[in-house]
Amino acid sequence: MLSTRFTKHSLVTEVHKTILPFLSDQSISIDATMGNGHDTLFLAQHSHKVYAFDIQENALQATRKRLENNHCLDKVNLIHAGHETLLEHIPATLKADAIVFNLGYLPHADTAIITLKKTTITALNAAISLLSDKGIISIITYPGHPGGQQELQAIIEWYQGLHYHGYAISIIHSMHEKLGSPIVFTLQNLSNYPSI
Ligand code: SAH
Repeated sequence: MLSTRFTKHSLVTEVHKTILPFLSDQSISIDATMGNGHDTLFLAQHSHKVYAFDIQENALQATRKRLENNHCLDKVNLIHAGHETLLEHIPATLKADAIVFNLGYLPHADTAIITLKKTTITALNAAISLLSDKGIISIITYPGHPGGQQELQAIIEWYQGLHYHGYAISIIHSMHEKLGSPIVFTLQNLSNYPSI
C-alpha cells in the first residue's frame, strides 16, 4: 500500500503531527539522529522512554541541554553511537511505537558529517525489527546536499522491497517543494494500518 500527500507545514512539524497518534505514556520511541534534539524532545514529551542516537558529541550536548530546559532528561537514554548499532544498544525484546530518522548533517555544524546510505539502510532494517505491531517509522531525507541524492535513492529501493512485504508506505512532500527539497517517508505494518 502506497500513498502520497502534500503538506503546508514544515516537514518536521508534519512528522510530529503524523506520529503523535502512535504514541502513549507507555510508548518506547527511538530518535535515530538526535541532532539538535527537536525530535528527541517531542518524543520525550509523548513517550514513556526514548533512546536517542548521534555520532557527534555536540549533538548530544545540544540535546541534553534542550531536554534539561524542558525537564525531560530523565526519560531519555542519550547514546553516543551510530544508528547502525541500534540493536547493540536496545534489547531485541523491546518494541518501539515510533522510530524517527532526520538524515543529512547537523545544522550549524560540520556539513561534511552526514548520514550515509550504507549505515542508514542497516539502521532502517534494525528499526523494522524493533517496530511494535502498531508502530511507525518516519524518515526525512535531504537530496539537496552532496551524497543526499544517493541516500534518497537507496531509501527508495529499500522501500520498494518492503512495499511488497506487508508494509504501508506514505511519501509526504512539502507544498513548497523545489528541486532538492527534503521528502518524508513513513512506514507502518499493513496489518495495523489505521486511518490517519
Ligand atoms: N533531528 C535533528 C536533525 C538531525 S541532523 C534535529 O531535529 O535537529 C542529522 C544528524 O545525524 C547529525 O547530528 C549527525 O551527526 C547525525 N548522524 C550522522 N551519521 C549518523 C549515524 N550513523 N548514526 C546516528 N546519527 C548520525
